Amino acid sequence: MAGTSPAMTHDEDLTMATHKLLLLPGDGIGTEVMAEVTRLIDWLNAEGIAHFTTEHGLVGGAAYDADKVAITDATMALAEASDAVIFGAVGGPKWDAVPYDARPEAGLLRLRKDLGLFANLRPAVCYPALADSSSLKREVVEGLDIMIVRELTGGVYFGEPKTITDLGNGQKRAIDTQVYDTYEIERIARVAFDLARKRRNKVTSMEKRNVMKSGVLWNEVVTQVHAREFPDVQLEHQLADSGGMNLVKWPKQFDVIVTDNLFGDMLSDIAAMLTGSLGMLPSASLGELNAKTGKRKAMYEPVHGSAPDIAGKGAANPLAMLASFGMALRYSLDLGGLADQLDAAIAAVLAKGLRTADIKSEGTTAVSTSEMGEAVVKEMQALQV
Ligand code: NAD
Repeated sequence: MAGTSPAMTHDEDLTMATHKLLLLPGDGIGTEVMAEVTRLIDWLNAEGIAHFTTEHGLVGGAAYDADKVAITDATMALAEASDAVIFGAVGGPKWDAVPYDARPEAGLLRLRKDLGLFANLRPAVCYPALADSSSLKREVVEGLDIMIVRELTGGVYFGEPKTITDLGNGQKRAIDTQVYDTYEIERIARVAFDLARKRRNKVTSMEKRNVMKSGVLWNEVVTQVHAREFPDVQLEHQLADSGGMNLVKWPKQFDVIVTDNLFGDMLSDIAAMLTGSLGMLPSASLGELNAKTGKRKAMYEPVHGSAPDIAGKGAANPLAMLASFGMALRYSLDLGGLADQLDAAIAAVLAKGLRTADIKSEGTTAVSTSEMGEAVVKEMQALQV
């Protein structure tokens, strides 16, 4: 193995651990953007900057075509055994008519459920070079760097009863149940406070305690976890509706936002749009901390889907996928220095005016998926000297 880069931090230098990754490209542009992660991994291995072993698996429509399921038990076993799962995207019109349980999204849902991925992290970072692609004014979004932490496995999407009943008088009644237990709020709050400590040390918790009992408990438990375990972190509470308003009014007031499944679904999409394009948005989903190993199960994926409209054309933006890999470096593999370099490389290619079609603006240079991936590796190379 070649010498370690001088830019690496001391702890990374000493460990040079082998990191086991499971790559699940999926369907459509999932395979195209994953190819750019593979390019980066191959380069990092070849340079001896880090050491990765990779397994590959099928998920979504690709898995259905091969095995008539959205993900096989064998692939799930690989996911369980990996340090991190790197996921592309699933779905497409080809699989619209497959049985419900084998639909492409079922693969994603099984991974989340079986790995116990209860915390969804969605950063909203506005690169200076892209500040004009946002629907908000440059001064509102330029330099924006916030993190939405959404509870992913509880709340109204999963609570029982969940029914539609025929009332027999020409009316029906639909019921969804918002339910949270103390432990679910405690563990998501801990993820948020932990993250804040590594960022700007502020957490904003959002709920609707004025009209929802689950909001009252959410507020109470977050306050207790804060007082007990994280008194050094600044905590504020906002009602989720006015929080949403503040997110578009002056988003830079936030550092980490922690919220439930439903509000998180909406607020993270709002935050996403502050930054411009779907092709730029990474995400991470984390499971419970294993007290013995100090590790968590985790999966990293771009927010976007399989984009059948541009699949196979070399037009996909690989930056969301590459930034998702960067989150794996930071949150699962203890390679924060390398993650910083990757973020810097992405910012540099954008600053040089390279753009895939989705973020193209006047005066910039159009590049393909692979040209963008190559440019990121070239910037990483430049950062090593
Ligand atoms: P989508 O995210 O695939 O695409 C929405 C629009 O954004 C399209 O115009 C697409 O071309 C563009 N786009 C998305 N990612 C891009 C990228 N990296 N570079 C450039 N442009 C990009 O959402 P959709 O069209 O609603 O769904 C398409 C399929 O993907 C469906 O089958 C859907 O179920 C699935 N889907 C999967 C996931 C996932 O795997 N996590 C998420 C969302 C949608």
